[in-house]
Amino acid sequence: MEITKHLFLNLSLFIIFVFICLIFFDNCKKLTLSKSSLIILFIAMLWLCIQFSYNPVPNARYDLRIIPLVLGALYIGIGPILIAATLFIRGLYGFDFGFLLTCILYVPLAVIFWRLYPWFLKQVPARRIFVTICMGIVLGVLTVIGMGFANPDAYWLDAWIAFLIIPSLGVGIISYGIEFVHRNNEMQQQLIKAEKLKAVEQMGAAISHEIRNPLTAASGFVQLLQDDYLSRQKRKEYLMIVKDELLSAERVIQDYLTFAKPSLNAFEELNVKSELRQIINILLPLANQNSVEIITDFSVIGFIKGDGQKFRQCFVNVIKNAIESMPNGGYLTITTEFSKNYVTISVKDTGIGMTMEQLERLGEPFYSTKGKNGTGLGMMVVYSIARAMDGSIWAESEVGIGTTFYFKFPTIPSIAKNEVQKANQQEN
Ligand code: ADP
Ligand code: MG
Repeated sequence: MEITKHLFLNLSLFIIFVFICLIFFDNCKKLTLSKSSLIILFIAMLWLCIQFSYNPVPNARYDLRIIPLVLGALYIGIGPILIAATLFIRGLYGFDFGFLLTCILYVPLAVIFWRLYPWFLKQVPARRIFVTICMGIVLGVLTVIGMGFANPDAYWLDAWIAFLIIPSLGVGIISYGIEFVHRNNEMQQQLIKAEKLKAVEQMGAAISHEIRNPLTAASGFVQLLQDDYLSRQKRKEYLMIVKDELLSAERVIQDYLTFAKPSLNAFEELNVKSELRQIINILLPLANQNSVEIITDFSVIGFIKGDGQKFRQCFVNVIKNAIESMPNGGYLTITTEFSKNYVTISVKDTGIGMTMEQLERLGEPFYSTKGKNGTGLGMMVVYSIARAMDGSIWAESEVGIGTTFYFKFPTIPSIAKNEVQKANQQEN
């Protein structure tokens, strides 16, 4: 039972390797392999199989090359390339009788794989698994018959058991794994799509409601303005209210548009420090109204790539929330830190803070604790802008003590270098 034992050990290692790969790919969702890297991966697997083969007599190599061959040929359509690679690798171990047999078996196989691939992809998953297992068995049988020619008296029964069971078992388990992961991914995509549709639907309903309120108020005041005997003072007051209402309707539309279209319009180089200064200037009246003192601690430099208008909108939303969380005054500290790869921005307030549940719901559409005064769209917009700029956000909060938001954006190294040089020259 030497061959069976050897191949079983190889199969176990193979399956462990495949599962590690699956876990790894699942963890790095963004990582997708190009066809050329897949070809390299499969050729490496073929080489490993042939390298760790069992060869009791000089011109026979018992190994599991059938598994990468069948899976690569049927799932990726690289059968002919893998067969050429197998022949090349096998050739490196000597042009013996075994090599000749391999050629006779594998050259027609290349054509079969090539024709089978488009048909295979159109089948339902269960049939695909069945076809790979059948392919494993057929190739196993052909291999043992070939081996019979090469060494008529070597390990007959053992070879039959080994090649009928192990490759088909291996191919079956792994193709089941592939189909399982594929179905899971598909379901996840469908779920995300359904969630998005639901969000857009909810959004539509809420938007019409949110916009109708200020518009109704505005049109009411416009009607009042039609009164010829209205005093100048009153007229001015009503016009201010109309303007405020229209602005608040516009804000809702702006938030919605940014969410619906989070892609950035322009990719410009943003100087974080001056952008933040500008935002603080815009929000200073609101801060003063709430007796909030703004403290800044900016690093000398810090450049990131992004859309300036969206960046400002993102931080206006965050800083506005921070100010609104301190109705009785407090301190708002805005800090930037610069490192080789990232610019970190933190916005810290000494406001009412958030509970664990509130923190978890942050960024959910229409989640607001401000009743009539909130839209619950601000943080959602913040998250979608940060995502579009390849940034990350996290928040820490304690009820009654305050909240800190941290943002991390990738920096632009070339500009950073120039700026450091400039800063150094100015110091000298
Ligand atoms: P809105 O401000 O219209 O309520 P947002 O999406 O901007 O909507 O914020 C959602 C909710 O997150 C707020 O209602 C508030 O409860 C909470 N929140 C956001 N930022 C802060 C903060 N700095 N301190 C306390 N709570 C906050
Ligand atoms: Mg807000």
